[in-house]
Amino acid sequence: MRGRPQRRPDPDLWTRRHSECASSDAGFTSMGEAMFVHTAHGGHGPKCLQFLSAAAYLDGRADPDEYV
Ligand SMILES: [Zn+2]
Repeated sequence: MRGRPQRRPDPDLWTRRHSECASSDAGFTSMGEAMFVHTAHGGHGPKCLQFLSAAAYLDGRADPDEYV
């Protein structure tokens, strides 16, 4: 029970960090987190900044404004 990974998937944390569709401030720490948010906010439409941010992250970009 030693050597706990530094970054382990934590969907509960991700859900809290990315609960606001109008916020794009949280950022992502892993591809898994971005994929989780991309799925959770999928279908929310073009005003969902969480979805746009996740899509941008997964596309290798840091700035979601490019999509607006
Ligand atoms: Zn959303």
